[in-house]
Amino acid sequence: MKADLIIINAREIATLKSGGKPKTRSEMSDPGLIMNAGLAIKDGKILAIASSEEIESTYSWDEAIDATGKIITPGFVDSHSHPVFVQTREDEFAMRLAGKSYVEIALAGGGIRSSIASTRAAREDELFELASERISKMMALGTTTLEAKSGYGLETQSELKQLGVIDRLNKSLPIEIVPSFMGAHEYPAEYRDNHEEYLRILTEEMIPAVAEQGIAEFCDIFTEAHVFSIEESRRVLRCAAEHGLKLKMHADEIEAIGGAELAAEMNCVSADHLGAASDAGIAAMQEAGVIPVLLPATLFSLRSKTYARARKMIDSGLPVAIATDYNPGSCNCDSMPLTMSLACLQMGLSPIESLAAATINAAFALSRGNKCGSLEVGKQADLIIWDIPSLNFIPYHLGSSHIHRVLKLGKTIFREA
Ligand SMILES: [Zn+2]
Repeated sequence: MKADLIIINAREIATLKSGGKPKTRSEMSDPGLIMNAGLAIKDGKILAIASSEEIESTYSWDEAIDATGKIITPGFVDSHSHPVFVQTREDEFAMRLAGKSYVEIALAGGGIRSSIASTRAAREDELFELASERISKMMALGTTTLEAKSGYGLETQSELKQLGVIDRLNKSLPIEIVPSFMGAHEYPAEYRDNHEEYLRILTEEMIPAVAEQGIAEFCDIFTEAHVFSIEESRRVLRCAAEHGLKLKMHADEIEAIGGAELAAEMNCVSADHLGAASDAGIAAMQEAGVIPVLLPATLFSLRSKTYARARKMIDSGLPVAIATDYNPGSCNCDSMPLTMSLACLQMGLSPIESLAAATINAAFALSRGNKCGSLEVGKQADLIIWDIPSLNFIPYHLGSSHIHRVLKLGKTIFREA
C-alpha cells in the first residue's frame, strides 16, 4: 500500500487514544504508549500506527522521517485564545508589579478598553499581520489547532472585522483556527450605564450578522459579577443557540456566581476559567457533559493565590482540558508546554494528565475530538516529534522547548533549526 509519508523508529508514540470520547478519571493518566513504533500517513490522515518493521514492510512511501530516539505526541489543541489585537500591554505588566491598581492603569490609558480602541481603529491587514506572527510562534511550540476569539471590537463592524481576520488566518496559515464570536467580552464604555441597549445590539444585530456570514462556530461570553450577569448571559447564549452557534463561557473566573451551572443549563460545549466554580456547578457540568477548560497561566500571571480545583473536577469525572488564554492583558502566554507545567505545579495534575488535558480533551472542547487530539487510525496526522527522554520531561523543563518537528495534516509546519 502507498503512503505519502512514513515516520519510523520513534522510541515512543504517546497516542492518547480515547475510544471516541474525552478522557476522564484514571484514563487521563494513560498516554496510550506504543514503544519502538512508526506511523504511515496519507492525505493528511493516519493510515497505520505499528512497529517500524511493519510500517516499512506494508507501505511504500514518498517521504520518510527517521525519528530514532525521539518521542511523538499529538499536536497541541489550544482551545482558548484572544490573538487578534493591536498593541501588547507590557507596560501594564510593569505597572501592576509596581503596585498600580486596575483603575490607575485604566486612567493611564491601559486595560481592555485600550485594546478595544486600537482594534476598532486598526486596518484588517494590520490585525492579520500581527496575529499571523503570533500564531507562528504558537506553531513552533507545538500548537496544531487553535481557537481564536473576537471580542476587542464590541461593535458590529469591528467584531465582524476581527472574525474576518480569523477566517483569513485559518485559510492562510497551515494550522486550523476555530473562530468564536465574543462580542460579549465586556460592556463597551458607551454602554456601561445602558446594558439593555448593548444586549439589544448583541442579540438583534451582532449575532444575526455573525450567523448570516457564517464566520463563527462558537459564541463565547464573559459571565462574571462585574461583566455579564447570569440573566444577561442566558439571554445572549439563548440567542446564539437559536442562530446555530455552539456555546462557550468564561465562567466563575473570580467569583462563583453560578456560571458553571448556567453552562450546564445551556449545554455549553465548554466552560472556561472556573477558578471559583462551586461544588454544585461542578456536579451540574458533569451531569450535562460540559468540558472544563482551565487556564492556569492566567491565574499565574495575575499572581493568584488560588487556582481552579482541577483535582476535584477530575475526581468528579470531568474531562479537564487546559489552554493558554493567550491575550494582551491578563495572560501573554502562547505556550502549551508552559501551560502544562503550570497545570502540574499549580493545580496538581500529573504530567500525563496535563498532556491529556492539552490534547484529546482540548479537542473535545472544540467539538473536534473525532478529528484530532490523539493519534489513531483515520484521524488527522497532527503531531509533535520531541527530543526528550520521557513524556514527564515536557512539563518538567519550565519554559524551554524541546520540539524537534511539528506536523499538521502530515505536513511539516515547524522544524528545529
Ligand atoms: Zn479568555
